[in-house]
Amino acid sequence: MTMAFEYAPAPESRAIVDIAPSYGLFIDGEFRPAEDGKVFKTVSPSSEEVLSEVAQAGQSDVDAAVRAARKAFEKWSALPGSERAKYLFRIARIIQERSRELAVLESLDNGKPIRESRDADLPLVAAHFFYYAGWADKLSHAGFGQDPRPLGVAGQVIPWNFPLLMLAWKIAPALACGNTVVLKPAETTPLSALFFADICRQAGLPKGVVNILTGDGSTGAALVAHPDVNKVAFTGSTEVGKAIARTVAGTDKKLTLELGGKAANIVFDDAPIDQAVEGIVNGIFFNQGHVCCAGSRLLVQESVQDELLDALKRRMSTLRVGDPLDKNTDIGAINSAEQLARIKSLADSGEAEGAERWAPSCELPSSGYWFAPTLFTGVTQAHRIAREEIFGPVLSVLTFRTPAEAVEKANNTQYGLSAGIWTEKGSRILWMADKLRAGVVWANTFNKFDPTSPFGGYKESGFGREGGRHGLEAYLNV
Ligand code: NAD
Repeated sequence: MTMAFEYAPAPESRAIVDIAPSYGLFIDGEFRPAEDGKVFKTVSPSSEEVLSEVAQAGQSDVDAAVRAARKAFEKWSALPGSERAKYLFRIARIIQERSRELAVLESLDNGKPIRESRDADLPLVAAHFFYYAGWADKLSHAGFGQDPRPLGVAGQVIPWNFPLLMLAWKIAPALACGNTVVLKPAETTPLSALFFADICRQAGLPKGVVNILTGDGSTGAALVAHPDVNKVAFTGSTEVGKAIARTVAGTDKKLTLELGGKAANIVFDDAPIDQAVEGIVNGIFFNQGHVCCAGSRLLVQESVQDELLDALKRRMSTLRVGDPLDKNTDIGAINSAEQLARIKSLADSGEAEGAERWAPSCELPSSGYWFAPTLFTGVTQAHRIAREEIFGPVLSVLTFRTPAEAVEKANNTQYGLSAGIWTEKGSRILWMADKLRAGVVWANTFNKFDPTSPFGGYKESGFGREGGRHGLEAYLNV
């Protein structure tokens, strides 16, 4: 397809962010090296440039961080909610003030387009802190009893797809409720959590209330197994979630798990096609498809399949893949070489199992990790690409004839995090939403997030809710 106009490069300057050559662990209000001196590198997935070297926390560092959080808990939990709220409001405002810097940092370390980190991640991060700041002095009106108490020390482990946003989802409600925190960011995206540690200092947050441990899965495993942790919150793969559930079983730790997904995005023949196409594109290509609630299975009513797929392919041909810091970029880099290998192997399985693969012709940069937006048609429910979470920009298309068949196919998955419905008929939306086994159901939209709205899964997508009033429950002794 020919374009009417070519785009000129519109790069965001990276001069606004000052990344140090190395970072320590943030324990008890101070940055310090790991006790055994171990470090690892974090690279920019769009260029493979080493951005910084960070400390790899071992068991004794986990012990020190949990000790600091335990000590801080006494005073923090005794503060009136209105005092805790002041700190959270301050953090929220500093995030807003530093949002351009943080957006550039997130795009560098994660590979996501600046348009998304600037317009989606950062505003939502600040909104989350503002929202839970508002709850801190109103906990007795939240529906969890007269005087709900915090749990103690929260051990929190987060993934790499929305590094700062997942941190906000975890830390804001924990602090609002009076808990203290030890958080481990993912090994490929540690930097924004370390900048957040600096924001905690800037906000004058008492020492030890927030501790940040960088490291890999072994650090995460040591944290969730620590006997003095009272609450474990995890977002990531179902496999690791299951391992954590086994570790926590038989203890009195409270647990919430937010795991994978394989959401159905269901388009009926009366849906406005152009609008649905935008929703499909947003559903699967937002954040390179590194989204647990991504609309990775398109269920389209058979009668509009051809029309919809033609429009979708036309739209996909206009997506711009490349430099995450270019303001025109729609699809950035895949977060790591490992994730790229996983996406490639699942996409190859789609072809091997007989589905038809299509991708627009697009030039991919020569260094970094990239995958073109890809569509599979002729997909059956038995195909791996219809069952397994790909966590990349790959859409599997299935068809249906009746609403009942759409429900049947949508629910035919081990997951249950989200779903989308596209139709003009309100009664059908309500009928479908009632039958879909998914934590979030979007109607005539997709990937809409708001701190006031609870988010979480059914089945192997996990349990517990984050966001909204419901999100407080996971951090209160109720
Ligand atoms: P992962 O579950 O391995 O890692 C997530 C976090 O858990 C990271 O911080 C990691 O260091 C930590 N971790 C790893 N092993 C651990 C253990 N035994 N105990 C405690 N913590 C541990 O996810 P990944 O390797 O980054 O991605 C693998 C797949 O997970 C992806 O392909 C995708 O399907 C899925 N995923 C889902 C989400 C989500 O939001 N639901 C996010 C990221 C990845």
